[in-house]
Amino acid sequence: MPEGDVVWYTARRLHEALAGRTLTRSDFRVPRLATADLTGDVVTETVSRGKHLLTRTKNGLTVHTHLRMDGSWRVRPAAEKIKDSHRIRLLLANEDWQAIGYQLGVVELIRTSEEKKVTGHLGPDLLGPDWDRDEAVRRLSAEPHRPIGEALLNQRNLAGIGTYFAAEMLFLRGTDPWRLVGDVEDLYALVDLGHRLLDANKTRLGHATTGDTRSGRESWVYGRAGRLCRRCGTVIRRGEQGPPGQERLRFWCPNCQK
Ligand SMILES: [Zn+2]
Repeated sequence: MPEGDVVWYTARRLHEALAGRTLTRSDFRVPRLATADLTGDVVTETVSRGKHLLTRTKNGLTVHTHLRMDGSWRVRPAAEKIKDSHRIRLLLANEDWQAIGYQLGVVELIRTSEEKKVTGHLGPDLLGPDWDRDEAVRRLSAEPHRPIGEALLNQRNLAGIGTYFAAEMLFLRGTDPWRLVGDVEDLYALVDLGHRLLDANKTRLGHATTGDTRSGRESWVYGRAGRLCRRCGTVIRRGEQGPPGQERLRFWCPNCQK
């Protein structure tokens, strides 16, 4: 699942291709928006808020998209012939570029003035211009009896973290994902680490938290169940955590993380 760094990178790509240009074509392939047409409107910007993408226009509209599990946006030159696919949910084009959204989990057209309806619940955005570590720690602390692994994934606490960064942050801080929020010694250090890791990964696709971007060496624990901890040699474990129906994967070293 794409995390905040990938969404930030995608927003920047969309912004570079679309902002300041007049749309020559829009093709919404979701039933509810089948007749929507943004042709002639000018895109003013694309920004990310947590894992949400907001493409705003001069006429006061916002195209709200979310990648969810498998979504992606591709930007290609306008003249390039794009292979048609049932996976395409939305196409936005101007004279120079076309942006093609594949398998987007959310495609909505809303008034820019009503964006709060879709992003208002989000906690401070780790990669947002208004990143606020105090507020993130305040929100995390409000539920001291929740396991920290679960609390980090709640986008109402802080926006942008998924299972990859949650696993890596907790390993680097030596914190067991099942430890309760109220028992975590330094929430500020944890939150600051998350901010640094996402920021360091935002300008390219793919994540690396070990400082080594070579395939198979990018992570400390994520995706490494059954293999040996890079630090202590203990077998990395994998488990599920979360409220019923919303369980998410966890990876951790039972020796390094307490
Ligand atoms: Zn270890």
